[in-house]
Amino acid sequence: MQKNNTRYWKIDDIHRDNQAIKEAGAIIARGGLVAFPTETVYGLGANALDGKAVKKIFKAKGRPSDNPLIVHVAGIDEVKKLSAGCSPRALKLMHTFWPGPLTLVLPKSRLVPPEVTGGLNTVAVRMPDHPVARQLIAAAGVPVAAPSANLSGSPSPTTARHVLEDLAGRVDGVLDGGPSNLGVESTVLDISTGEPVILRPGGITAEQLIPVIGQVKYAAALEKDRQNIKPRSPGLKYKHYAPKAGVVLLEGRAEDIARHTEELIKRYQGENKKVGVLASAENARRYRGAEVLSYGSRGNPAAAAAVLYAALRRFDMLGVDVIIAEGMPDTGLGRAVMDRLRRAAGKIVKAAAAETDTF
Ligand code: AMP
Ligand code: MG
Repeated sequence: MQKNNTRYWKIDDIHRDNQAIKEAGAIIARGGLVAFPTETVYGLGANALDGKAVKKIFKAKGRPSDNPLIVHVAGIDEVKKLSAGCSPRALKLMHTFWPGPLTLVLPKSRLVPPEVTGGLNTVAVRMPDHPVARQLIAAAGVPVAAPSANLSGSPSPTTARHVLEDLAGRVDGVLDGGPSNLGVESTVLDISTGEPVILRPGGITAEQLIPVIGQVKYAAALEKDRQNIKPRSPGLKYKHYAPKAGVVLLEGRAEDIARHTEELIKRYQGENKKVGVLASAENARRYRGAEVLSYGSRGNPAAAAAVLYAALRRFDMLGVDVIIAEGMPDTGLGRAVMDRLRRAAGKIVKAAAAETDTF
């Protein structure tokens, strides 16, 4: 199948459809762009050792060139040539969490072109936990630089259809390996300096990291990152993951959030706005006069992560003017879900019982 010069391969059986993966790998080896499934979200891959190929990623996505890319490898051995030195701590993390949603920021080697790292002297690497992704990297025969396969700023793609919505005609091919299981991006952990710092919360939680490497810190709070001229993770200063409709994020206890949401729906309806609510399963049935999509229970962040981006895209398809998003507890994978919602949100409201009539 061909979509606006973008080839499309459906991978139902990794062995039977091996030829498609080989063709896609050859495109990357030749300096082209191929979108591919990973367990986090779909990635847009190019040869990480070819600066000219990597530049095409920024053009296709409209991504700011100082926002560095993650380099994807098919095995731990491949990191050796990308990094100027793998500490015992780095190796321990790789052996514990790879393949999986943990990206490590390491000192870079001379092999990695500046286009990949935004001119930084570090490189971010990870081994994805998806057979199609690893076979593609192996078929390309080079490490694969890949950000999420969406237009810059919009919600990340968790299906091949999402990729085509954003990038059909702008990339050489899309490998369809079904929906991404995890649904949010990898954790970015900087271990290039003395103390490990989580630059971006993601699929591997602080609770999982601590038993392996001891205490970890989170990078500076969001607002500070956005204003900071030189944050440690350049990508964090940009607005991200945002649908076309404005997002209002409500944080607090479930009951307080529900009452605030009901009031907000009425208010926006009074302004003739079409309202979407991204709701917890606990509250979803209470809302009238809005398009309601549930992310599942407040107590199940893994389920919420899996549907988050698809729900934000769905609201855009439904043509809502504003999305009210219910926040969930910040623990475990909930930290990554809340990080994405906060970055998508134009406005964050603390829903407290006493403040019901003050907004
Ligand atoms: P994305 O590819 O859109 O999922 O974003 C990748 C994230 O990793 C961005 O937030 C980048 O800023 C971050 N990143 C990539 N390389 C580095 C690096 N060398 N140092 C710090 N952060 C990085
Ligand atoms: Mg992205």
